Amino acid sequence: MQYFAGIDIGSTAIKIAIIDEDKNLVGQKISASGSMFYKYAQEALAELLNSLGIKDDELVYIVATGYGRKLFKEANEKISEITANAIGARAAAKGECDIKTIINIGGQDSKAISLDNEGNVINFAMNDRCAAGTGKFLDVVAMNLEIGVDELGKYHFMSKGTPLSINSTCAVFAESEIIGLLGNNHSIEDIVAGVHYSIAKRIIKLVKRVGIKEAIYFDGGPALNEGLVNAIENELSKEIYIPKHPQITTAFGAAILASESYSYLQNS
Ligand code: ADP
Repeated sequence: MQYFAGIDIGSTAIKIAIIDEDKNLVGQKISASGSMFYKYAQEALAELLNSLGIKDDELVYIVATGYGRKLFKEANEKISEITANAIGARAAAKGECDIKTIINIGGQDSKAISLDNEGNVINFAMNDRCAAGTGKFLDVVAMNLEIGVDELGKYHFMSKGTPLSINSTCAVFAESEIIGLLGNNHSIEDIVAGVHYSIAKRIIKLVKRVGIKEAIYFDGGPALNEGLVNAIENELSKEIYIPKHPQITTAFGAAILASESYSYLQNS
């Protein structure tokens, strides 16, 4: 059996997807990027292959993507995360919906990608200058509220009434604003809901730059947060599609490209 790997070395997390010859996802791994992207990515790949019982020579083609892709020397090919995200998103939603817009929120940036009917990228917009509206912002909020980032969704749905308004457009000032709200006896759940709505409003401004066309797909680690999904859907007044494994879509897209590049090379 031959296998193909997509490795997405993000600012916050390394994501690896392994697919087989039929493009089925056979394994995945998510680990922290930390300070040594290359070393940690190599270790994560070795651990994943070992746990799946895949020998080194069965892994025939590797495509690296993401922020740290240039460092991954073993990759046969390197592609931009925009391309990998588009391929992965279309494949993940295949047979369920026809994606025209991708919202991706990562650890330190957020993106909106517009696709044509064939799934080609026709436009994209990116915010990588400001932490507000990114996973980092959610991590800082969770830390200030002394809850896990994976608990934000639960607190969001416990909020009653109108969500608090978080006005700061900078993550650093938003942190002080949140501490101020805690000092004024606002509940954790109302603050969490307010943060989600403030991120939703920011991300919608970004999506409007490429145009909002359905079906809308949301991925990246923060798409695991059902509260944030709820806030974006309410602000958009539209349903958004969340794949089964939202954090690994880009790695999955890179793995698909790996299998296609490999068969192209074999047949040429
Ligand atoms: P990048 O590709 O930039 O490294 P990711 O798409 O991996 O970013 O997203 C990382 C972010 O995902 C984290 O900063 C965190 O806020 C969020 N995240 C990760 N796991 C969860 C979870 N279980 N629930 C909610 N948010 C999560």
